[in-house]
Amino acid sequence: MKNPKIVFVCVCLAAAAVIFWFNLDSAPAIPDTPDTETMWMCRDCGKTFALTAAKFAVEEERAGGSAPLHCIDCSKKEAYRVAQCTTCDTFYFSRDVPGALGRCPQCYPARPGGGPADGGSSEQEEPPPPAV
Ligand SMILES: [Zn+2]
Ligand SMILES: [Zn+2]
Repeated sequence: MKNPKIVFVCVCLAAAAVIFWFNLDSAPAIPDTPDTETMWMCRDCGKTFALTAAKFAVEEERAGGSAPLHCIDCSKKEAYRVAQCTTCDTFYFSRDVPGALGRCPQCYPARPGGGPADGGSSEQEEPPPPAV
């Protein structure tokens, strides 16, 4: 038979250890390091800038919760997070930005009345746009 008192003490010690470790982790500093950077671009002036997790937290609070954030250049609240094209490194807005195409404007230029070029239909051939 186990001594219930000893079991109780063991449980208390375990709980104390868990609480101790939990408290250590409960208030992590937001990292202000380059590997936490995200890229942002101003829809108004086109300025591209990086925000570390810590700077993003500050900007997010200043912007009142979520995107758009304030542009570091023109201070307008028009900065959205951008994705970077893996082919040409161009930054572009993802689809969650109002009016954005969600694809690289260099590799996938907007075509009047056309969708993305990867339709897979071989019968549909479009004449090249007239040269200006
Ligand atoms: Zn701007
Ligand atoms: Zn591209």
